[in-house]
Amino acid sequence: MMVKHVFSFLEGDGKNKKLLGGKGANLCEMTQIGLNVPPGFVISTEACVQYLEAPNGELPEGLLDAVKVHMADIERATGKKFGDPDNPLLVSVRSGSAMSMPGMMDTVLNLGLNSQTLHGLIRQTSNERFAYDAYRRFIQIFGKVAMGIPDQYFDETLDAIKVRAGAISDVDLTIEDLKEIVELFHNVVEEQKFRPFPEDVWEQLNIAIKAVFNSWSGKRAVDYRKQFNITLDQANGTAVSIVAMVFGNMGNDSGTGVGFTRDPATGENKMFGEYLVNAQGEDVVAGIRTPRPIQAMAQEMPDLYHQLEELRDRLEKHYREVQDFEFTIEKGILYCLQTRNGKMNATAMVRTSVEMVNEGLLTKPEGLLRINPEHLEQLLYPGLDPNFKAEPLSQGLPASPGAASGKCIFDADSAERIGRAGQKVILVREETKPEDIHGFFASQGILTSRGGKTSHAAVVARGMGKPCVAGAEGIHVDTEHRLAIVGDRVLHEGDIITIDGGTGNVYLGEIPTIEPEFSSYLHTLLDWADESAKLGVMANADTPEAAEKARNYGAVGIGLCRTERMFNAVDRLPLVIDMILADTVEQRKEALNRLLPIQRSDFSGILKAMAPYPVTVRLLDPPIHEFLPSEGELEVQIEDLRRLHDTARLTEKNVESLKLIDPMLHSNYMAQRQGLPAFFASLDLTLIDAALAKKELMLQRARILKEVNPMLGHRGVRLAVSFPEIYEMQIRAILEAAADCIKEGIEVHPEIMVPQVCSVLELEYVQKIIDQVKKEVEESHGVEVNFKFGSMVEVVRACITADELAGASEFFSFGTNDLTQATFSFSREDAENKFLPYYQQQNILPENPFESLDVKGVGNLMKLAVKGGRSVRPDLKIGICGEHGGHPASIRFCHHAGLDYVSCSGPRVPIARLAAAHATMLEKSYDK
Ligand code: ADP
Ligand code: MG
Ligand code: MG
Repeated sequence: MMVKHVFSFLEGDGKNKKLLGGKGANLCEMTQIGLNVPPGFVISTEACVQYLEAPNGELPEGLLDAVKVHMADIERATGKKFGDPDNPLLVSVRSGSAMSMPGMMDTVLNLGLNSQTLHGLIRQTSNERFAYDAYRRFIQIFGKVAMGIPDQYFDETLDAIKVRAGAISDVDLTIEDLKEIVELFHNVVEEQKFRPFPEDVWEQLNIAIKAVFNSWSGKRAVDYRKQFNITLDQANGTAVSIVAMVFGNMGNDSGTGVGFTRDPATGENKMFGEYLVNAQGEDVVAGIRTPRPIQAMAQEMPDLYHQLEELRDRLEKHYREVQDFEFTIEKGILYCLQTRNGKMNATAMVRTSVEMVNEGLLTKPEGLLRINPEHLEQLLYPGLDPNFKAEPLSQGLPASPGAASGKCIFDADSAERIGRAGQKVILVREETKPEDIHGFFASQGILTSRGGKTSHAAVVARGMGKPCVAGAEGIHVDTEHRLAIVGDRVLHEGDIITIDGGTGNVYLGEIPTIEPEFSSYLHTLLDWADESAKLGVMANADTPEAAEKARNYGAVGIGLCRTERMFNAVDRLPLVIDMILADTVEQRKEALNRLLPIQRSDFSGILKAMAPYPVTVRLLDPPIHEFLPSEGELEVQIEDLRRLHDTARLTEKNVESLKLIDPMLHSNYMAQRQGLPAFFASLDLTLIDAALAKKELMLQRARILKEVNPMLGHRGVRLAVSFPEIYEMQIRAILEAAADCIKEGIEVHPEIMVPQVCSVLELEYVQKIIDQVKKEVEESHGVEVNFKFGSMVEVVRACITADELAGASEFFSFGTNDLTQATFSFSREDAENKFLPYYQQQNILPENPFESLDVKGVGNLMKLAVKGGRSVRPDLKIGICGEHGGHPASIRFCHHAGLDYVSCSGPRVPIARLAAAHATMLEKSYDK
């Protein structure tokens, strides 16, 4: 039996996007719910795949016969005939796959025109101008898409006529101009292809179907799928929809436009869109004429505007999702030509979710589930600092929010090259085309001088979450000379500009940006998320400021406070180095005593910022030689100091380098010099000698401490076993800070966490130190200090002996970065720099296990630890504090593994909160 490849809009299954493509399926569905769609049919994606795989380059057997049958249906429905010189039927041949890939594949309009049917169209419409206009459009698009003739040949011809005719826009062209253009376009085809433009309409149709099929495997489409990780499983092949043409360019009672049922930039419940009177669909998107906002239609064509509002309501009620639709009005009759789920930025997604739930259109879980947690990242995009007063250089339409600065670059290839080299780029174009897509990826933002909010640039930038200012008409882009003219100013390629996609302003130079604020919609949404989430979300934060921020992001505590970050601050590092250089326990204690008050005030700041939520402090983790400069650095510094000793004089240039060699020496020197020029100030030799001696000591120590494999070396709790006074100082700082807070009446919940534990005996060893310090602190402060004591679980042995560990810990926190390294025996840096990309390419490890938690390996170890730990201590609190704690798929696993909380970086907290809610709501469909 032959497979059915062709489906009329009346029979196609609107839910089967894989077979009919999104566009085709929705055309079927809209037809079947009674919306006014021109008659048509869909050729399936299966036919496409079959065609692309066929060795002979022919369409599947029987396909053309089926197409003929369906064309006859359209002929009946419209009363027109394909190829008929008196009453010709014209059609569009449209691409569309299961995944929306806007503008990445081809579509041919006005197919069926030739030198005969042209006159039929003129008689039919009594509109010669319109007919010639349609014809020249068809020759160009067919020539480009089906015959492979670059646009430029047609555009040059068109522009030449426009200049001669003094026409600013296409609408200014006369019938005579258009006739001449048609003739010249025919010549273009013959010159480029050595054959005439095909007259036979069935040949046209046959070639166009193949061309649309082929556009599935065109470079643009392939690149796009790669970039957005669209797999064959999600979309395989494009369908072809063949639709009777309706004409928006038949006069002033005709027009065309695109609409969103709600505003895709803000989410406001108000129709948003643009339209053009007397124009064909592609004109709006191509940015050739700047369209008018849809609301203007209320005055211009009130009756149609009313119809449009009705269409909008019916679309939303039916699809229960914001729709992005295309419409055309032919002589006062409204047709809907396409609908799909609207792509929106995160701001709009959040607002529409909240409002659609409040309107009763969606349930709360639906409102939460329609937002991809990763998408919220966009809300963390910076805006321009409002306190910074700057005059905009120019203004365009605010097409995609967010602010960005970078070098202005005038073409996509250069943008890609310069962006890849690590520079910030703003892609500046007159208008963008689908073939510019690689330039978008490499840019911080996009600026165009033509086109509206639904132009290509705007749509693509919004999809990517990149800032975009479109239609900044005051900017004249001169790509050839690599410059742009704005009034009397000239922007050269490489000049820094800033664009604000929220206002449409364009500025010269770099403008400071600020963090965004949470909208009330986001608060509502995340509150709903918290209602259903079982996992708590905490943050990784090392300073009171970071704790404050994390709190604003909705963190219910700190799951990881890394004390080594504090050690690295400039005012502390010298003390830390003294501690490292100490030869005796006494010397070490002396250095630690100077660190104690500093750490105490750090902890007290963080505890206060988070009160009354828990703060989990991890005791010192990295190997201590990490606080010393490297051997090589020290050697160079020592050599420099020796040279300095010999000359004992500095030039101004040397003064700067002195800062690098030895900051202390530098500041002493500056104090001593008291404003004299360098040449007159001699250096105090004794100071240099002291610095030298210290550096030599540091070098000696660096050599002793050097490890073959520091990741598996002298770090974590192992440090405490050899230098107990370090942990003792930290524990004292924590407990004293807590005691001080308690005395101030602040409720605090410190948790002390030991890293790199592999044996319960290590925990018991630390516990003894804690008991001693606790006693001392409680005595000296006169208050009882309550806290939790727990273990990081990041060593394989810890997972295996979790039952024992649980005997000595009140909580576990998985450190999945180290645990992943240990499970795979991969050192992260080497893996990511050297071989992981090959593993990913070869599909041996399709996902980087340092980004996405390895459920089978690391996950199973975690489950083992959860089971072991809770077998001994049923109320054991368990969380995760590695980077995976902010990764939605990993969060989903944590939910299933029975964890109590995840901890992630502050800005990812909202993402994790939503992901935690998703994990609960999707519980039943989890299959691992
Ligand atoms: P794309 O996927 O690039 O949007 P479409 O297939 O949607 O391509 O078509 C491009 C433009 O042509 C759209 O504006 C669309 O509304 C318009 N169009 C497509 N088919 C018809 C038709 N039968 N009559 C009038 N306009 C059409
Ligand atoms: Mg479209
Ligand atoms: Mg670790």
